[in-house]
Amino acid sequence: MFQQGFELFFSPRLTLKQKYRVLRWFFYSKVLDRDIIRSVEIIHTLLCNASCRFCSNGKLSEATPKMKAAEVKMILDKLAAYGVPAVIFLGGESLTDENFFDYLQYARERGIITLLQTNGIALDEPTIQRLGQAGLFKITITLHDTLPANHNAVVNRSGALETILAALPLLKRQGIKIDLKTIYSRDSLSNGAFDRILVLAKKVGVSLNVNPFMPVGRGINEAEMFSDKEKESYLSVTVKDQTITTHTKNEYGDHCPAGREYLGIAPDGEILPCYFLPVSVGNIRDTDIATAQKRALQLGIFKKGATSCVVAMNREFYRDIITELYSGRFDLPVRVYEHPYLQEKFTRFSRTL
Ligand code: SF4
Repeated sequence: MFQQGFELFFSPRLTLKQKYRVLRWFFYSKVLDRDIIRSVEIIHTLLCNASCRFCSNGKLSEATPKMKAAEVKMILDKLAAYGVPAVIFLGGESLTDENFFDYLQYARERGIITLLQTNGIALDEPTIQRLGQAGLFKITITLHDTLPANHNAVVNRSGALETILAALPLLKRQGIKIDLKTIYSRDSLSNGAFDRILVLAKKVGVSLNVNPFMPVGRGINEAEMFSDKEKESYLSVTVKDQTITTHTKNEYGDHCPAGREYLGIAPDGEILPCYFLPVSVGNIRDTDIATAQKRALQLGIFKKGATSCVVAMNREFYRDIITELYSGRFDLPVRVYEHPYLQEKFTRFSRTL
């Protein structure tokens, strides 16, 4: 984790203002041991140029597909005022939003480090140049396979994988840090896609960020969550391999970041402590970051230093809480703090962790 701080501090891509933010976060988080938000994901659009079968945005904010530019800037102002060092733009697909480059610039001017999570479909040479000029620090590209027919079938776009492979050296030349990202699922294991993607990441010399399959969003009816044996295999693969990072094992340490170091913001402004859990801790239009964080921690399920993911790995949590959230009784994402029955349920569950 200190290596990451060191790397950021000496990166020629970061401005002095951005470096100050990083130092400040390290001081509060690592020296004073305070829960302080390090990164916020802004889901500024749900519009996308792909249509993946297991997209986790399925039931999230369907009524508001895209944020207005003024709203994104208001959010960036709030994050800057709180001292958040990094923002991750994602969708949908960020590169379908005509205001996206303006957001990168605006965030950078306010001392916020910018990261992008993308499906890579729009990564042609002029776009990559613009990303470099706008000071993008890191890009995370989702891969479903290294075999073109398979990857392109998942995202439903011909030429998608070929575009990503051509983009990698161009992104490197711009000095943008690259991560690949994939899902560890029964399918990707049995058809060999996971292993092929890992081999590619090693060959290109980048990290592979891995999410376990989460039976939420459109995935709620796709498949059951991992069995104990599958869970063990996921943990043994992801913990051992140095190329792999996960939500819990990354350059900042080995713990779930939900609510303590991370928040997400949906297109309608609802603040989510975990991107994969359809639970809101307020709306950014009328809720400050400190209040949102307090409500996230009141849920009780995000234990300090937890090295396991309660959403993807806890069968009881899935059976008792996730299935109820998706039962149709609640508007999603649900504000648990407005539902005493649900809050009590979360509290009771948290005592079992
Ligand atoms: S609960 Fe799981 S999915 Fe959510 S932030 Fe933590 S590790 Fe990630």
